Amino acid sequence: MIITDTHTHLYSEAFDEDRKEVVQNAIDAGVERFFIPAIDSTYTASMLELEKDFPDNIFLMTGLHPTHVKESYKEELAHVEEMLSNRKFYAIGEIGIDLYWDKTFLEQQQEAFRVQINLAKKYKLPIVIHCRDAFDEVFEVLEAEKGNDLFGIFHCFTGTLEQAHKAVSYNMKLGIGGVVTFKNGKIDTFINQFNLKHIVLETDSPYLAPVPYRGKRNESGYIIKVLEKLSVIYGMPIEDIAAITTQNSKDVFGV
Ligand SMILES: [Zn+2]
Repeated sequence: MIITDTHTHLYSEAFDEDRKEVVQNAIDAGVERFFIPAIDSTYTASMLELEKDFPDNIFLMTGLHPTHVKESYKEELAHVEEMLSNRKFYAIGEIGIDLYWDKTFLEQQQEAFRVQINLAKKYKLPIVIHCRDAFDEVFEVLEAEKGNDLFGIFHCFTGTLEQAHKAVSYNMKLGIGGVVTFKNGKIDTFINQFNLKHIVLETDSPYLAPVPYRGKRNESGYIIKVLEKLSVIYGMPIEDIAAITTQNSKDVFGV
């Protein structure tokens, strides 16, 4: 059984004390593929180091996270472009719009999202979308940019059934993680209306730990709890769900 964590910030400071152990524990639990979303240029060095430590397991993305779109966003976007021209990345992410923390830079967030979508098209890469309190704004950009060359993952999907259908209509897979195990997470009530071909697994570690670790530091190995929950929801063995979602991740990332 090969499990794929399509969204894990293993380079985060939260793992500075025990990073290698955390990654190895996850590998021992069957999580052999880790897709690593970027945040901004300050993390690039630690991402490259992580890749050097686990070259067969770590797959890097590049991109500018919407909550890090500030005054300096043009330089940050130039950094993303430079990275793309230098070496292989597997996606542009995480990108999108976040109006939960701060609405000051909404316009710049929209522009950064569009610019990065066009980089993804240029390099024939998937996008990994971060959307918080901003479904209308994100869908507006996707509607303008949609097409066969736009595809990817709606990371940590927490919307309604209708929004899930809309995301899928834009060639997006739904990234399902710890929230599906939460009592008030809501997506557990309708996610089985979607064929598993539309779903990929993620942890978003160190955030959003699944029950029974909710509130603690999340680790990629805890993705087993997400698998167990989906196994109940879909009435299928966890091995099958792992196989299907890993195949989906290969279809998206091309590896
Ligand atoms: Zn993330």
